[in-house]
Amino acid sequence: MITTLADDPTAAAILAAAPCYPIPPSGTSPAIEAVRAARTGHCLAVGRDGANLILRRPWLELDVPVTPPIPAYLPYGSIGPSRANLRCGLIPRAIFDRVLDHFCSALPNEAAAFVIWDEEDRDFSLHFPQIEEATPSRLIYRNPVLPPQRHLVCDIHSHGHGRAFFSATDDADDAHSTKIALVIGRLGQPDGPDIASRLCAGGMFLDVPRNPFSGDDHAA
Ligand SMILES: [Zn+2]
Repeated sequence: MITTLADDPTAAAILAAAPCYPIPPSGTSPAIEAVRAARTGHCLAVGRDGANLILRRPWLELDVPVTPPIPAYLPYGSIGPSRANLRCGLIPRAIFDRVLDHFCSALPNEAAAFVIWDEEDRDFSLHFPQIEEATPSRLIYRNPVLPPQRHLVCDIHSHGHGRAFFSATDDADDAHSTKIALVIGRLGQPDGPDIASRLCAGGMFLDVPRNPFSGDDHAA
């Protein structure tokens, strides 16, 4: 039996950090279940109907297909249903309301806010970053530096009176993050606010399957 996937130690370390597991016909295996149960980690699980990214963070569990169905016959199990669950639970509605108030008071300039989740006390808090430059069309701010038990769950910024969308700058900023990103636009407009949302994970931008805030359904 082959026990190492790579001879080179660096290559072996990379493969160990991002392993790829075939899915047995039963649909799961101890190796895949260990990643699913982990506090943090990820792997690729290859089934007869495609490859799934399984990604875990203390606040997130994500199983999402990253390939179309594989046309070759593979004697594997199915990747099964997708999931994107918030292990931290829904974010209290009052936090969203405070963000909106903050963004409105910053008009006509853009503004930003971070929703942080503390894994130890299992509670959310709101962080307003230090702004280096804010105009109606441009915002430069520092991401928070967090202790290990605190996690950035939701990164929210406003486009002031402008439409909500993810700009090329937003795409570059979000490319390497695991977080929910929200843009709020058309603030102070009669037909506003306008909200764009996405889940950033594994270098992808995914649809947010449901509103991450408790209460009514207008945030995503
Ligand atoms: Zn933006």
